[in-house]
This record gives sequence, structure tokens and C-alpha cells, in this order.
Amino acid sequence: MYHLTGVTKCYRSGGGVVRALDGIGLCVEDGGALVVQGAAGSGKSTLLRILGGLERPTRGSVELDGTDLATLTECRLARIRTESIGTVPSGGGLTPGFTARQNVAGALLPLRLRPADRWELAGEALREVGMDKQLDVAAEELAAGARQRVALARALVKRPTVLLADRPTAGLDAAARAEIAELFVRVWGERRLTCVVATEDAALVGRAPRLATLSEGRVAAMARYPSAAAGG
Ligand code: ADP
Ligand code: MG
Repeated sequence: MYHLTGVTKCYRSGGGVVRALDGIGLCVEDGGALVVQGAAGSGKSTLLRILGGLERPTRGSVELDGTDLATLTECRLARIRTESIGTVPSGGGLTPGFTARQNVAGALLPLRLRPADRWELAGEALREVGMDKQLDVAAEELAAGARQRVALARALVKRPTVLLADRPTAGLDAAARAEIAELFVRVWGERRLTCVVATEDAALVGRAPRLATLSEGRVAAMARYPSAAAGG
């Protein structure tokens, strides 16, 4: 569970200061999914980086299961990132020149597993996102929607407690957007993950169990949709 209080993030930029986040307070429950929408520049990616322990807030606390990520040592933060947080970066973040299965297996390298087990788990994670027929296709040869499926498998293969995704349907055609949205809804329903997805896509916003709207680094609105397929 995330519990954020007064999270502010300022960047120095061209002699001035940009306030990317301005006093964010929110909770994301275990097994709950929060979709964050907002115009470009509203702070979605900054919020995800802070939730993922990749950046620290300028002010405020970012509690994950009672531990404040803002004040942890880099070493403990790295460990939490490795063991507990699965991330789908903007664009998917796959490594070209490597197959779908190699990309997913690579996410297990920091964990102490035998290579055969990494390979087996990668195949399983890819089958779970419907990529069983393209295990050995190079990342750059996959269609954009398939790349996002692989990116999701890559984030989930280590069985994290947290899933963070930055605009997972961006740049996809309508059919692929609907498929990826469906996949996220399934993941929300089947796994007890603490999940935050940033998007501007109606296909995902319409399925969100909870929806936060960011505007200029603030939570402008928070809504809950009990009728959504995934609960939350
Ligand atoms: P979104 O993902 O919603 O488009 P971002 O979190 O990327 O929004 O950006 C929020 C604001 O913070 C924007 O004004 C952006 O230019 C600024 N910003 C983000 N990262 C940096 C950075 N590393 N340095 C300076 N400004 C940044
Ligand atoms: Mg962004």
C-alpha cells in the first residue's frame, strides 16, 4: 500500500524552478489499482518515478507498506526496487537485439535464480500475456501492442507487489489499445498488486477502479468506480 503525504518535486530548469508535483496526497490500497490521468506536463511521469523509488521528492513522504521511500538509503531503495516493484516504462523499455523471452528473463538477473529457472519463468510470464507464439521474436520486430505485452510480462515476471506503468497504450491503434486495457483489467482482477497506471487513454480511464486527475502537479479530482470490472 502506498500512502503519500505532501509530495512536492521541484526541478531546476533554465535558471528557474519547475514544480512538477505540488503537495500530492493519496493512498493506493493493496490489491487496488489507481489510474492517473492528466494532460502532458501535469506530473504523471514524475509521480511514477517517485513511486518507483527512482527519484526522491523535494518534500513529503512516500510510504510503501509503512516504509518512507523518501528517506531510505540508496541501498535499501535499490533492494525494494529489485524485489517489489515492477515497472512498465514509457514506450515499454525493451532492449532491441534481444528476443521477447531474453528481455523478460533479463528482468530476473538481479534475483538469485538459476538460468534455467529464469528462462522457464520468462516463458510462463509471456504465455500469461498471450505472447506464447512470439517468444523468440526480436523486440524491434514485434508490433507496438506486442511490445507492450512483453513489457508487462517483464514487469510481472518477478512477482512484484507493486506494478507501475507509464502510458502503456500510447501510440497504439484502437484495437491494440483495447487489448492492452483488457490485459491490465485482467491483471487488476487476478493479482493482488498495488498498481498505478498513468494514461491519457479513454480505453484505460473507462476501466479504472479508481481515477486520479492530475493538473499542474496537484490531484484535481479523485473518483472511484465501483462498477468497474476489476473492483479495487
Ligand atoms: P507528464 O508525465 O504528465 O507529461 P512530467 O512528470 O513529465 O509530466 O512533467 C511535469 C513537469 O515537470 C513538466 O513541466 C516537465 O517539464 C517538468 N519536468 C519533469 N522532469 C523534469 C526534469 N528532470 N527537469 C526539469 N523539469 C522536469
Ligand atoms: Mg509522462
